[in-house]
Amino acid sequence: MALSGVEIFKLLPKTNCKKCGHPTCLAFAMKLAQRQATLESCPDVSEEAKKILGEASAPPVRPITFGAGDKAVKMGEETVLFRHDKKFVNPCAFAVEIPDTLAEAEMASLSEQVVQSEIDRVGQKLRIDAIVLTNASGDAGKLEAAAKVVAAKATGVPVIINTTNAQAAEAAMKHVGDKRPILYGANASNVEAMAAVAKANKAILGIAANGLEELSTLTEKVKSLGVEDMVIDSGARKAKEIIENNTLIRRAAVKKNFKPLGYPIINFMQREDGLHEALVASTGVAKYASIVVLSSVEKWKNLALFTLRQNIYTDPQVPMQVEQKVYNIGDPKAGSPLFITTNFSLTYFIVSGEIENSKVASRLAVMDCEGLSVLTAWAAGKFTASKIAQFITESGIEKEIAEKELIIPGYVAILSGSIEDKLPGWKITVGPREANAIPAFLKTRG
Ligand code: SF4
Repeated sequence: MALSGVEIFKLLPKTNCKKCGHPTCLAFAMKLAQRQATLESCPDVSEEAKKILGEASAPPVRPITFGAGDKAVKMGEETVLFRHDKKFVNPCAFAVEIPDTLAEAEMASLSEQVVQSEIDRVGQKLRIDAIVLTNASGDAGKLEAAAKVVAAKATGVPVIINTTNAQAAEAAMKHVGDKRPILYGANASNVEAMAAVAKANKAILGIAANGLEELSTLTEKVKSLGVEDMVIDSGARKAKEIIENNTLIRRAAVKKNFKPLGYPIINFMQREDGLHEALVASTGVAKYASIVVLSSVEKWKNLALFTLRQNIYTDPQVPMQVEQKVYNIGDPKAGSPLFITTNFSLTYFIVSGEIENSKVASRLAVMDCEGLSVLTAWAAGKFTASKIAQFITESGIEKEIAEKELIIPGYVAILSGSIEDKLPGWKITVGPREANAIPAFLKTRG
């Protein structure tokens, strides 16, 4: 069970030395209990206390990194059942299954589709994150040959080797074993042999159980065999079972700190019908899956699932923001228009998109308003005449433009006079209220 602030306090040095950045040990203990501080901040904590507190303060869902390099996937670390309680930490990964019974050219083509699946949405790169290589043939040689193809064609993409045959797993590991893969398929009858392969290759072990009871027994067994990193599959395949089992797993981990189920979940969603598959997959995205396995790469399905994932894993307490700076749109010259807006991602992408549509090269000054949209930022006192004047002055943009003119959003037309007062020598022009009127507005300026 998680420790209370007072229980944690009893284990701290109680010197109130402030080295942790908190005024007292009790204040630090309270932050630790709320998971808003980490134990490393106290340099004087005893080894014994470290052991007790380390276990108690570990996230209830074990943090695990799958794959290596730029495309590595972080999983686990979740601490809540509901996103509005805090936030969901690590977005689920999408993986596409490639059976080793396919012809080499088909495997290569699917691998390339995974590599090319990346899209840019509201400033984030979204993609199919991993490949599940399934030993459908049952043949160790075929799995090894397939692992070789996938490793060559999908360089850097994390791989899940899906087999119940430890010899086949060992053979496939020769090609992907150095990239922190998942070895999925450990069950009640092969667990020792599969754990040995995972341990030897520093792979994450995927547990394939039949129900939650067997799952708990298997994870305990695997831990006793020296493998700490696991992903777990309760055996659920129907949407209703997936929601039920995933919820029971997350609840046991988060509410009861039940360690045998405190691991990232893998769900297999493959269906004959793509629409059906997307619907079932969406239940996993919404309810606690860390890896969602699909049967194919299809742009329409990707877009729907990527969008859902992005929305669910956006921190509800932190608006999406872009960096404060003056962005060039097209290739602006000294006489090109200069717009200003706030740094709420959606505002930036809509405004910059409309300027792009107008085909008039421009500059867009994006001001840090803590991710608020124009009207909200103005109402909150973050998009004011003085702050706008300060930002424009400090940006140094004045040196790059021929005529000192700033186009402000129509919604804050009321600010035009006061900005002119604060920015002597500048002309303030009121632009359209809605971004979609920007192309027409620019046309009228000639
Ligand atoms: S650094 Fe440690 S001993 Fe010092 S105040 Fe913080 S918790 Fe207490």
